[in-house]
Amino acid sequence: MTLAIHGGSPVRTDPWPAWPPPLDPRQRELVMDVLESGRWGATQGGSVVTDLVAAFARAARVPYGVAAGNATLGLFAALKGLGVGRGDEVIVPAYTFVASATAVLLAGAVPVIADVDPAHLHVSPDAVRDALTPRTAAVMPVHLAGSPADMDPITGLAARHGLAVVEDAAQAHGAAYKDRPVGGLGDAGVFSFQSSKAMTAGEGGLVVCRDESAYEAIWSVCNVGRRPGGQWYGHPSVGWNLRLTEIQAALLLPWLDRLDDELARRAAFCAALERELAGLPVTMLGPPPGTTRDSRHLVMLRIGVPVERDFLLAAMAAEGVPLDAGYPPLGTMAALAAEGARTGPCPAADEAAGSVVWVRQAMLMDDPARAADVAEALAKVLKS
Ligand SMILES: *Cc1c(COP(=O)(O)O)cnc(C)c1O
Repeated sequence: MTLAIHGGSPVRTDPWPAWPPPLDPRQRELVMDVLESGRWGATQGGSVVTDLVAAFARAARVPYGVAAGNATLGLFAALKGLGVGRGDEVIVPAYTFVASATAVLLAGAVPVIADVDPAHLHVSPDAVRDALTPRTAAVMPVHLAGSPADMDPITGLAARHGLAVVEDAAQAHGAAYKDRPVGGLGDAGVFSFQSSKAMTAGEGGLVVCRDESAYEAIWSVCNVGRRPGGQWYGHPSVGWNLRLTEIQAALLLPWLDRLDDELARRAAFCAALERELAGLPVTMLGPPPGTTRDSRHLVMLRIGVPVERDFLLAAMAAEGVPLDAGYPPLGTMAALAAEGARTGPCPAADEAAGSVVWVRQAMLMDDPARAADVAEALAKVLKS
């Protein structure tokens, strides 16, 4: 069969589901209520940001939360609020979005890049151990692709060495580790509402945390150095305006009621895809040990045969099944190194950059029967 990239007919011609999904009536109603109230900012007495923060804290089973303008700033605020700053090192995984490291730089600290486990591409606890120095102040496990990092070895290490644990849960709304929700497993957990994420308001972020003094410090970082309940022009610490708006929160609060359904939908598609891939030289990467709920932000596929990567991606797109190239390893980014980021060898992240591709969340929202399109297009392209 002629590949579509060579003029043949594509495996799939109809579009994949759009992201974000269509507005639901409750989002529309709440957004309109906020707009008509005139209370668009979070300091004007509206309650939607407060309700959203409370819902996330409840879901993470921790007492506190703070909304932020995005997850990059949320990670920054969490680090800063937990006392991480100049001269400190923070261990981050080699296979993650660049913001995991740039948030560390924003706090004035040094990202130290640790390799991932080749089986699932989440940070390797052994690599975290190897990256420890007397200056290590924190570790940032990333709940990559919607599945939780293997947290127990990391929190164990952190407890022994007095490190803060900041979970980058930007991709993992609703995921659980050993039946415990992500975000509440470390000292702070940070979610993103950027446009590609499992819940989105275009942009946005939210930090959850367990400890009252950490909460007050993180809140203060996000609220120009004020104290919760303190004076408007009282700034006992240095902070910034990193707030989320009521309008953004109005898109997000009703979404919480349908998140479980969306996770179940993606899980069903992934189960079908795994069956469809049987017999192809393609493996779906499984989640780390301890995963009890994978929120399936995306699916990572390892291509088991040598294939020119740019050609694979272009040929799949031409077949109507666009895949994503995934992350370049953080340790290969000159801009991070120029700012002082350090890295050891990261063979697993390097290998993943060459062999792993992603199926994005929006595609996973389709009818599970359409998982066959992904497998059929892969079979066609890989056979050529
Ligand atoms: C999206 C993302 C971020 C950054 O989130 P923003 O809200 O865009 O700042 C950080 N870490 C990971 C792993 C992400 O996927």
